[in-house]
Amino acid sequence: MNDVYLSIGTNIGERYENLQHAVKLLMGTEGVEVERISSVYETAAVGFTNQADFLNIAVYVKTIHSSSEMLKICQSIENELGRVREFRWGPRIIDLDILLYNHENIETESLIVPHPRMYERAFVLVPLIDITPTPENKQLQLAHRTMEQLDREKEGVILWKTIDMVDEFVRFES
Ligand code: ATP
Ligand code: MG
Ligand code: MG
Repeated sequence: MNDVYLSIGTNIGERYENLQHAVKLLMGTEGVEVERISSVYETAAVGFTNQADFLNIAVYVKTIHSSSEMLKICQSIENELGRVREFRWGPRIIDLDILLYNHENIETESLIVPHPRMYERAFVLVPLIDITPTPENKQLQLAHRTMEQLDREKEGVILWKTIDMVDEFVRFES
């Protein structure tokens, strides 16, 4: 089994439902076990700032699938939820990014892992740290150290809903 950390974000429509929908589709994927889900955090858009606020979570899954298969699974979930690619970093119904795949360094045309921008993004690191209380590899240790240097308040990452268990996440009605 492979250990995979995903980051999921949304800023269009019923944002919490979008997150739930994506997680339910992950749970329903053969060979994918959703082990942990972070609390839900809200963040104002960075980069292209003239767009609605995001909700973000991190998810830890165990899977039999390869990293390229996991990317395809993530993209098919994005398509299922109706993501339309207008321009990079623009508003989106859902974005599923692979942050870490085991402790591997991957660099292909379609996939770079660790995710190349994860260490600059408090909205990625805050949820990731939620689900990795004891960072057991170098990438996770770096995530924890980096977050200690970022100011979560300053970066505007606000706790939106506390989540303790996967079941609770998929049951909650926003
Ligand atoms: P960012 O990558 O800065 O978070 P984004 O998530 O909005 O931006 P997308 O439009 O979702 O970008 O994806 C653009 C391309 O990134 C995809 O076609 C995919 O092949 C590639 N990609 C490279 N590495 C990864 C990764 N670790 N996870 C997901 N997609 C990746
Ligand atoms: Mg992204
Ligand atoms: Mg993406």
